[in-house]
Amino acid sequence: MRSISYIDTRGADGSRPAFTRAVVTGIAAGGGLFVPEELPAFTLPELLVFADRPYWRRVAAVFSRFGVDLDGDRIDALMREAYGVQWDDERIAPVVEIVPGTHVLELWHGPTSAFKDMALQCMPLFFSEAVDTMQAHGELDDDYLILVATSGDTGKAALEGFADRAHTGIVVFYPDGGVSDIQRLQMVTQHGVNVGVFGVRGNFDDCQTAVKAAFNDEVFAAELHERHGLRLSSANSINWGRLLPQIAYYVSAYADMVASGGVKPGAPMDVCVPTGNFGNILGAYYAKLIGVPIGRLLCASNENNVLTDFIATGTYDISDRDFVLTPSPSMDILISSNLERLLYHLAGPEQVRAWMSDLVGQRRFTVDRETFAKVREHFVADWVTNDESLATIRRVYAEHGYLMDPHTAVAWEVAERLRGEDPVLVVSTAHWAKFGADVYRALAGVGYGDALPSAAAGLTGLELLDEVCALAPNAGPVPVRLAALCDAEPRFADVVDAGREGIEGAVRSWLAR
Ligand SMILES: *Cc1c(COP(=O)(O)O)cnc(C)c1O
Repeated sequence: MRSISYIDTRGADGSRPAFTRAVVTGIAAGGGLFVPEELPAFTLPELLVFADRPYWRRVAAVFSRFGVDLDGDRIDALMREAYGVQWDDERIAPVVEIVPGTHVLELWHGPTSAFKDMALQCMPLFFSEAVDTMQAHGELDDDYLILVATSGDTGKAALEGFADRAHTGIVVFYPDGGVSDIQRLQMVTQHGVNVGVFGVRGNFDDCQTAVKAAFNDEVFAAELHERHGLRLSSANSINWGRLLPQIAYYVSAYADMVASGGVKPGAPMDVCVPTGNFGNILGAYYAKLIGVPIGRLLCASNENNVLTDFIATGTYDISDRDFVLTPSPSMDILISSNLERLLYHLAGPEQVRAWMSDLVGQRRFTVDRETFAKVREHFVADWVTNDESLATIRRVYAEHGYLMDPHTAVAWEVAERLRGEDPVLVVSTAHWAKFGADVYRALAGVGYGDALPSAAAGLTGLELLDEVCALAPNAGPVPVRLAALCDAEPRFADVVDAGREGIEGAVRSWLAR
C-alpha cells in the first residue's frame, strides 16, 4: 500500500512526514496541525462488507487505505492488540437502536469507560512502533516521555494506553481537588512500570499552563536528553494518531446500521456528536469525505457554546466569553483546536494562518462567505443548558429505559431538536457511571450544583453508583473496572506546586524513583 504524506494546515512545515513520524512529532513546526495530503475513497460495497468483520479488521482497513507506512501484517497485529480483550463488548463500538430512527453509538466499552479509549488504546501502539523503527534505522537514540495535563478523562485513557509500552514513559498531572473522586482513583491506581501521576495545586488551567511551560523549557529538554536519553511529547487530541481511529468507528457504525436495517444501503444518516475539542465530530466529517453516507453533522455543545455560535454566524469569538462549569466537563473547552483542520480543508493554509493569528491577537476570527457556506453545507449546531442536560437523562431513562451520561445527554437533546427525516446516530461518549454523581442528581431531580438530598449527602462517587442503580434498575451494571476501584490500592499520592518548576521537579523525582 502506498504511503500518504502529511502536510501542515498553516503551510509552514515542509517536512511532509508519513503517518508514523507525524504521530511521534505531534504538531507541525510553527504550530499548525498535520492533515493527510490526499484522502482515500470507499465505495458502498467496500463499506458494507465491514459488517461481517471484527472491529480490529475494520480499523486496520481504514488505516491501510489512509496509507499508514507499516506493513499490512504489522497493522493487523497492532489492531488486534488495540481492540482486543480489554474491551467489555466484543463489538467494541456497538450501535444500539433506542427508538426507531434513533441509534446510539456506544464509544465507552474500553478500559476507562469513556470515548478517549477509542483512540488511546490504539495510538500508543503506533507511537511505540514508530520509535522502535526510527531507532532501528539509526534516526533516533532517545525514548519518549509523554507529559499530559488532564481535567479528568484524557489522563486516565492516556495512562492506560501508554502503560508498559516500549520506548515510552508517561507522567500525568491533574488539578488536585479538580477531578471527580472516581477519575482521581482511576488515575492514582494505574498499573505499569513507566507511569507517573501527580496532583497539582491549582485548577486545570494552572496545570495546563505549567505543563506547557515545562515543554517549552529548552534547558529542561537538554537535561532530559543528556541525563536520561528522553524527549518530550504530548499525545494530545490534535495528534493525527488520535484522529484516524476516530474516523474508523463511523465507517464501522454505518456498516452496522445498514446490517441492522436502521438505514437503507447508500441512504444517509445524520450524526450528532457531543463536542469539545472538535476531534470526534471531525472524525465524522472525514468519514463523510471518504464516502460514508452521512447527511448532516449535528454539533452539540453544553453552556460553553462557542461552536454553536460559530456554526450559526461564521464568527468564532472568545473575546468576551467566560469558561462555564457544566456536568459535561470533557466538553468544557473554549478553543476547539481541531476546528483548524476543518478550516484547512474548506479554505486552505493562507486563510488558516490569518484566522489563527486573529484568534491569538483579537481572541476572535470571522471566516469569509464562501467558507461559511461550506461549513453550513455539512454542519448544524445547537447547545443545551446544564439543567436541560440532566432533565434529558431523566426523561430518556423514564421513556426508554436507557441511562446516559451527561455528555451523551447533550447530544441526545440536540439530535431531537435538529433531526429531520433521516435516521440519526447519537454518539455516546461515556458510560453513565463515570459521571455518576450528576446522573444521580438527574434521576433524583436535583439541579446541577445543588446539594444532594440528605440520604445521599456524604456518599463518595463510588457509593453513589449504588444509589443510581437503585433509582434506575434497568441501567445495567457498573463496569467491573469502575466497581473494582473501591478495593484498588493507590500507587500515587504526591501533590506538587503549579508552575514550571513544580512540574519539572515532579518529573525529576519520578525519573529518580
Ligand atoms: C473528550 C470527550 C468529549 C469531547 O470530544 P472532542 O473530541 O474533544 O470533541 C465528549 N465526551 C467525553 C466523555 C469526552 O471524554
